[in-house]
Order: sequence, then C-alpha cells, then structure tokens
Amino acid sequence: MQQQISYQIGNNLYLSITDRCTLECAFCPKTQGDMTVQGYDLTIHHRPTAEEVITSIGDVSKYDEIVFCGYGEPTLRLNVLLEVARYVKQHGGRVRVNTDGLCNLVHKQDTLPELAQCVDALSVSLNAQNSEIYDLHCRPNLPGSYQAMLAFLDRATKYIPDVTATAIDGLDGVDIEACEGIARQLKVKFRRRELNVVG
Ligand code: SF4
Repeated sequence: MQQQISYQIGNNLYLSITDRCTLECAFCPKTQGDMTVQGYDLTIHHRPTAEEVITSIGDVSKYDEIVFCGYGEPTLRLNVLLEVARYVKQHGGRVRVNTDGLCNLVHKQDTLPELAQCVDALSVSLNAQNSEIYDLHCRPNLPGSYQAMLAFLDRATKYIPDVTATAIDGLDGVDIEACEGIARQLKVKFRRRELNVVG
C-alpha cells in the first residue's frame, strides 16, 4: 500500500519515519485517531528503511529544510534518522529535527554528539512550564520525562547551532510566558505553536 513518507508544506519537506511515540499527548490528532496533516494521510503501514526515505526525498536542493516530523518521534529510529540526515547534509541540504527531547532518556546515552554531525536545527517540545502540566497534556510513558527533556534542551545548545523550544498556545494551564522564560533561561529560541498546525 502506498505510504506518505515525505510531504511538502511550503518550501520544506517533512519526513514521517515512525508512528511510535514516548508520549501520548492528549491534544494530538493521532491520539484521537486522526493521522492527517494538512491533507496528507500519514498512516504508517510499515516503518520505512533509510533507503526508502532517501528515495522519497528526491532532489534535496528543492527545499529550504528537510524536517523530521510526522505523527511519531523520529529519534526513536535514531539510526535511520542519522543515515538520512547524513545523506541530506552530503547533498547540501539543511536538516531540522522536531523532537520530544527524550532521546537521551530513551537511548540511555548522550546522543547529541552524533546528532550534531548531521543536524542543523532542533525544535524541542517544551510544552509546559512544569512537570505537572506537562504530564497532564503529554502523558509520558517514562518517569522523569519533563526533567530529561529540560536537560536535553540545555545540553543541545552545546552541540546544535539552532535550538528552539516550543509550546502550544491555548492548552489548559499552559503558561506561554513562563515557557518563554524557561527558553530564555536555557538560552534557546522560543516558538509559540498553534494547536494542530505542523511545521
Ligand atoms: S509526541 Fe507528537 S506525535 Fe506523539 S503523541 Fe505527542 S504530539 Fe502526537
């Protein structure tokens, strides 16, 4: 069955390499059974190989950025992500990874030195100003996720040139200004996201 591995929004190409997550976000369309993003059906019938992902990219130079995103956490498939990202860099592209920031917690090691070799930008879901609100909306599977995400965000600035923390405006109890303050403290950029808008 045909599967949407890559999908274009604006001048960026997004890559959907997995449907697995370490979070089960209450606000996520996937959690509510909807796998579509801006008209693209991101249902995953099989987890694509690095070769399949690279084939689906085509001409890297056509895009401003190649973004690992989709309804799944791309760093759960770290080896595939790294192989594809290396390919994009070898062909002159720019790589961004949209992540929950739990990569080091899941893989039980510091993955940033490896990511730094082929990733230009990280966009990390901060999502809340404290662990209580984070747990309420993101429903993490692993204990200590909020603190692990903050530690990853902090450490990421030592390796990746462009790091952004994001939070979604309009979720119950989420204090966007406080989230922005945390980003400032960690010396990363901040982006206020709108619910259900991918990018
Ligand atoms: S991490 Fe992303 S894809 Fe996974 S449940 Fe949360 S919002 Fe959805």
